[in-house]
Amino acid sequence: ENGQVEKIDYVFKVVVIGDSAVGKTQILSRFTKNEFCFDSKSTIGVEFQTRTLTIKSKVIKAQIWDTAGQERYRAVTSAYYRGALGAMLVYDITKRQSFDHVARWVEELRAHADNSIVIMLIGNKADLVELRAVPTEDAVEFAEDQSLFFFEASALSGDNVESAFFKLLEEIYGVVS
Ligand code: GDP
Repeated sequence: ENGQVEKIDYVFKVVVIGDSAVGKTQILSRFTKNEFCFDSKSTIGVEFQTRTLTIKSKVIKAQIWDTAGQERYRAVTSAYYRGALGAMLVYDITKRQSFDHVARWVEELRAHADNSIVIMLIGNKADLVELRAVPTEDAVEFAEDQSLFFFEASALSGDNVESAFFKLLEEIYGVVS
């Protein structure tokens, strides 16, 4: 951009996890490209995307990893979690089962990721108000109980995606600085 070389102060690895089809890939592309793709992937293999932003006057490169379908095969390996400072744990507010599995994903994080990992719980597809199957209060209660941050968001409308990532990255900055 404008020929200047940007000095990166920090690189933060963030993993996106949660059941299949909750919208992990779309949340990632909303945050990194401000896009929502209606006919999305079915690629296999771990991938990441980046976005560079400024938090508290520091230039931070967020390196955000997507399971790219591997969660279907329970093949998310410890390599995926290695070095991760943050996790976006996504469920779908219209799919009760995806919320019921959140506890399992938290266990997975506690088992494989660093102890100090910052976890943001995301209730995605908040645009589908008519189809809601998970009351906000259930998620608030779970998040408080497990010391997670929590937002409902929509990758489709973009609502709260930016806020959730900024909050997560600010909290990570607080941990590392
Ligand atoms: P992943 O398997 O968790 O990566 O899920 P995807 O990102 O592939 O999304 C699964 C499906 O949910 C796709 O059909 C998306 O278009 C749809 N989807 C993702 N996010 C949203 C959202 O915020 N609102 C709505 N209405 N649909 C969404």
